[in-house]
Amino acid sequence: MIASIRSCLYLVVLLVIVFLTSPSESYECFDPKNPFEPSNLKECSSESDAYSKLFYGSQFRNWNHNNTNATDSNAFELSFVCDPTMSAQTCQKAQNSFVTAGALLSKIFKFPQKITVAAEFADLCKTLGGCDSTGTIIGAAGPSRFFSMTGEDGAIRLYPQALTKLANPTGPVPFDTHDIIASFNSKLAPHFFFPGDKNIQPDQIDFVSVIAHEFLHGLGFLSSWSPALLPTSDVVIPFVIPNGSQVRIRETNFDQFVIKTADGKKLTDYTAALSKAIDGQTITSDAALVASIKKVATDISLTTTTDYVTPKAIGFLPRGKTNIKDAVLLETSLKPYSIGSTGSHVDDATYARSQDWLMTYVDTPGKTYQQMDKDSGAAPDAIVGPGTKAIMESIGFPTADNPNPFVPTIVNESPVLNN
Ligand SMILES: [Zn+2]
Repeated sequence: MIASIRSCLYLVVLLVIVFLTSPSESYECFDPKNPFEPSNLKECSSESDAYSKLFYGSQFRNWNHNNTNATDSNAFELSFVCDPTMSAQTCQKAQNSFVTAGALLSKIFKFPQKITVAAEFADLCKTLGGCDSTGTIIGAAGPSRFFSMTGEDGAIRLYPQALTKLANPTGPVPFDTHDIIASFNSKLAPHFFFPGDKNIQPDQIDFVSVIAHEFLHGLGFLSSWSPALLPTSDVVIPFVIPNGSQVRIRETNFDQFVIKTADGKKLTDYTAALSKAIDGQTITSDAALVASIKKVATDISLTTTTDYVTPKAIGFLPRGKTNIKDAVLLETSLKPYSIGSTGSHVDDATYARSQDWLMTYVDTPGKTYQQMDKDSGAAPDAIVGPGTKAIMESIGFPTADNPNPFVPTIVNESPVLNN
């Protein structure tokens, strides 16, 4: 009797321990290495947080940063670290730009919760290099963490943390410290036009536009389709995520709406076929993985490697639309495929002078966002055009016109892979 009570107690203790430990282990989440490599994903862990993905991680961690809280008119809550070699005035201007960009986006999107951003204005020439005649890195922002969630079609896709929070999942979801990580180059300060500066110069780019653009990437304006296995393969496929000796093929929720404009075929169907064939296979070498993917690509007649270097071949068909003509064309004119530009922007040739100018991959020097809006016939301070708005609504952000977007369900157990 005593023994059985004791074993009962053990069982209770065991159950409590299992209950306490299993939920955090059973959510699928993935971390990019840094804002510049959103496709370089690994399984999330407590060792990896927003700070560890930024150059000034230790300053953030030591609370050596400035905070700007969210307000009724600005959903973005900013933690900001500035290059110590910059003047206090320049740092303040840079910080103000983040706040202005957040306020502009908060006018269009009715964020029901705050969006937390860890942002640094850092010497990227020193840390990343590449500041020479061939070009200079301006900066980037991206989701700090992705979570696997199930959409209305039952497919599991990667959602940025900001959208995962909007789904209000219950349980101890391992959210990162911030929704968005952002890193911008302080060495370009003379070439940035900040709010309050007078007369933008021909060699200056509008910093608020740059940040608003990058914030949208951080909120999920991001495709997974790229030549993921370079240099061994240039086959354009969704994210390939290591999973022990196996891999997972996963697309972002943005990709649910991506189509081939020639025939309207949804790329998500290719993802499903790739995932079915590859997920759960034991991969013995990179060469074996490449061979496997190439075989599946041939079997399913995957044409994306060509589509992504053919102008206007790929589009985003907003939720509820069925006519291919309603697709927002994505950038596929660059040859070869340009990582970071191709696929995750609207087509520059079509939209650079339209109200959807913000999400082309090219910055327009010498123009403020107010001038870009005015020149394209948009309302003052619109900053986001109708195509861009439709994309953000489709992936799950509410607006006044579309207040109740679809809410996905978080995946809280490992899916069965290939039985
Ligand atoms: Zn971009």
